[in-house]
Amino acid sequence: MKPAPFDYCRPSTVAQALEALGSSESSRVLAGGQSLIPAMNFRLTDVSVLVDINRVEGLDTVACDPGGVTVGAAATQTRVLDDDDTASVVGGLRVALRHVGHLQIRNRGTVCGSLAHADPAAELPALAVAAGAMIDVSGPAGERQVAAGDFFLGPFWTALDDGELITRVRFPAPPAGSVTIVDEVSRRAGDFAVAGLVAIVEADGGAVRSARLVGFGLGGAPTRLRTAEAAISGWAADHPSDGLTEAVMADTADAFDDIHATAWYRREAVAALTVRAARRASATRKAA
Ligand SMILES: Cc1cc2nc3c(=O)[nH]c(=O)nc-3n(C[C@H](O)[C@H](O)[C@H](O)COP(=O)(O)OP(=O)(O)OC[C@H]3O[C@@H](n4cnc5c(N)ncnc54)[C@H](O)[C@@H]3O)c2cc1C
Repeated sequence: MKPAPFDYCRPSTVAQALEALGSSESSRVLAGGQSLIPAMNFRLTDVSVLVDINRVEGLDTVACDPGGVTVGAAATQTRVLDDDDTASVVGGLRVALRHVGHLQIRNRGTVCGSLAHADPAAELPALAVAAGAMIDVSGPAGERQVAAGDFFLGPFWTALDDGELITRVRFPAPPAGSVTIVDEVSRRAGDFAVAGLVAIVEADGGAVRSARLVGFGLGGAPTRLRTAEAAISGWAADHPSDGLTEAVMADTADAFDDIHATAWYRREAVAALTVRAARRASATRKAA
């Protein structure tokens, strides 16, 4: 199908972009277009004004410092994935982006677009929550920062208000010596995950010291696995998996059924991925 008619504008500044976004109730930001354009073609999204942010000054930057990585709203996923400086500061970005679609999609798709789109099965929102990322938002009322943990409200639903734009996101560097694991179950390589896990794990002497665990593909927003975070502390590679599995099951009671999988399957999958992550992290740090 073809999209319904719409107006297109390509602003050069954030102020112009905000003005265009405010010009109609159904104006939408166009970043990489990898999710929005298919939705428009299928007429699942009603758009009157498309505000293309790809030429907005200053939004295509990727900046690294020892404390973290800041990714502008027009920076593509490939740009971030290929950047060795970024990978050396926040390795989780490269690990997560390897799971995102295919090369052609990452060549156009943006990191911030994935956050704004808030697909429940997407890797980057879960990474942002696990890493404690901060999202910079500009809108008619000025600028504000939203913690990733408060940003994702439900499937395709975020804390962005009408007329607001993500300008950049900052991923802080993980704790020194930690391991970031992004693991998922999907039908084919490059497909969206049926269920997945982001784990940022600190381990010492073969045992897990602490971890931030976030499940995705469970049906709603990225899910912080807080009971499992408590259960994983002190966990070593030779520990039985029962306690950790039960903890994940307790954390994922709200998982949804859909045509791809049952809630039960998703919860079991995330539990298995969590046990695997704990084994991997404790073994990695023991060997290091
Ligand atoms: C075949 C296929 C497979 C894919 N597989 C995966 C996958 O495995 N994992 C995964 O995570 N993603 C996957 N994607 C989605 C891909 O990562 C998209 O690029 C991403 O979800 C959206 O980024 P985008 O820059 O293309 O955003 P767009 O499509 O341009 O926009 C998406 C939505 O976000 C809004 N938006 C975009 N940028 C901003 C901003 N800066 N501020 C406010 N609102 C904004 C838009 O208005 C729109 O509503 C896949 C896509 C395809 C087509």
